[in-house]
Amino acid sequence: MADGVLVLFVGTGNAHKVKEFSEMAPAGVTVRPAFSREFPAPDVKESGESFFTNAWAKAEAFARALRGKAAGVVFADDSGLVVPALSGEPGIRSARYAGENATDEQNRERLLGNMKGLSGDQRQAFFVCVLVAVDIASGGLRAAASGKVFGRITKGLMGEGGFGYDPVFVPEGYHASFGIMASSEKNRISHRLRAFRNLCQAMGAR
Ligand code: IMP
Repeated sequence: MADGVLVLFVGTGNAHKVKEFSEMAPAGVTVRPAFSREFPAPDVKESGESFFTNAWAKAEAFARALRGKAAGVVFADDSGLVVPALSGEPGIRSARYAGENATDEQNRERLLGNMKGLSGDQRQAFFVCVLVAVDIASGGLRAAASGKVFGRITKGLMGEGGFGYDPVFVPEGYHASFGIMASSEKNRISHRLRAFRNLCQAMGAR
């Protein structure tokens, strides 16, 4: 941390995620993209057995790619939806639940189909985000953190906004799904925000 400012590179090729993490950064933390037009993001397959191993693989790949070009720490994320009544599905396969190149719509349909006949507590679910921070110079693990948001899966689509499973997830204490909620409101309670705050804290930010 130089002059009380913690600089974190975000290990993702997704500009939307960089923007989201920048907006979430607490005072004393600066978020920087780890890729650009001249410096394309490495393509890392999500082939691990857990959110942690996937996030770690991405962070390590970005650290290797940044070595000699930037100094400090790079972090990467992995996230997904977990339904305990489905033994944790879709879990680490959230993005490809209905098949390798499945669309968000196909993934949601598969989820609603697999949950037909489930009611009450059986519709409980949570989103989880795991973040892993790696030292660019050494490739060593600097910190890891997770965040969750609990809620329930609707019986049909509720709204069209957001992405992924947003239109079928209603967070605890709300009546509207993430697909209806303004993104600014979702971002105040999201698994990504909670994980990022925990990571910043673990790295000594105020
Ligand atoms: P990744 O972390 O970008 O690999 O996301 C994995 C998958 O989890 C996404 O493709 C979505 O299907 C799902 N997912 C993760 N976070 C969210 C969210 O905030 N809303 C809806 N779906 C999400």
